[in-house]
Amino acid sequence: MSQLSKKAIASKLLQEYSQLLRCPICKRTMIMQNDQSLVCEENHHFDLAKKGYVHLLSQSIETKYDKELFQSRKRIAEDGFFAPLIKSITKIIDSNKTDAIMLDAGCGEGSHLAQIQQSLEQASFGIGADIAKEGIQLATSNSSNSVWIVADLANLPIATTSIDYILNILSPSNYAEFDRLLKKEGKLIKVIPNSDYLKELRGIFYEDKEAYDNESTKARFQEKFELLHTEQVRYSVNVKQPLLNDLVKMTPLSWSADKSKVEEVNNTESMNITVDLSILVGIKK
Ligand SMILES: [Zn+2]
Repeated sequence: MSQLSKKAIASKLLQEYSQLLRCPICKRTMIMQNDQSLVCEENHHFDLAKKGYVHLLSQSIETKYDKELFQSRKRIAEDGFFAPLIKSITKIIDSNKTDAIMLDAGCGEGSHLAQIQQSLEQASFGIGADIAKEGIQLATSNSSNSVWIVADLANLPIATTSIDYILNILSPSNYAEFDRLLKKEGKLIKVIPNSDYLKELRGIFYEDKEAYDNESTKARFQEKFELLHTEQVRYSVNVKQPLLNDLVKMTPLSWSADKSKVEEVNNTESMNITVDLSILVGIKK
């Protein structure tokens, strides 16, 4: 742990980059005041939490995502489960040799954003946004040059045309907001599952009855953005306990599965798991 508290680090970053944010209520500019709160021109106040994040929703929203789920996701990510994906995304960003301001829309516990920033050759600043407070609270333990905000994807408290890269990894999109936030040459990097993603778990939970198809997601992306580039990232990971348990916990696949099937996996020592994803890279139309 460094000498500065998480709150002090966040306050410093928010001061430096406050021009990237805007008030979620009146949409005006905000500044950091007394190392304590973000305050807009209309005097709406948003306090910096002790853990080093800001709650920029006008009210709290309950989500299905609890602290345990994000802790599981964090352990899985730290074990390198997504490492080839992180490498591919880093390459895409590094191919442009300028410093990058990035937003991870739907960042959860922030592992992807932090790992991407740590792997980049160039300097970067990140904003991790998620509606689930439980994710953002964990995200502040990542050491990367970024701020973490609890925010609504449909009303992101971020300035218009301020972002170089929007990351949207296995998470819902709001294309109207993405379009507003990106700079003219800014890129949207969206990761979606292909049909074989976690197929071993799908096979056990649903006996292969429910095939997953991402065609409509791709079509929707192309309706809203110009698709520059698509890349498939496919690999297999041998996942051992207790991480296999974490994988089950973090995936929505298990939520509606039969309890006995979930237990079957939880009692398995290790499994080969297929990761099969597509990276869609787009620019504004
Ligand atoms: Zn305001």
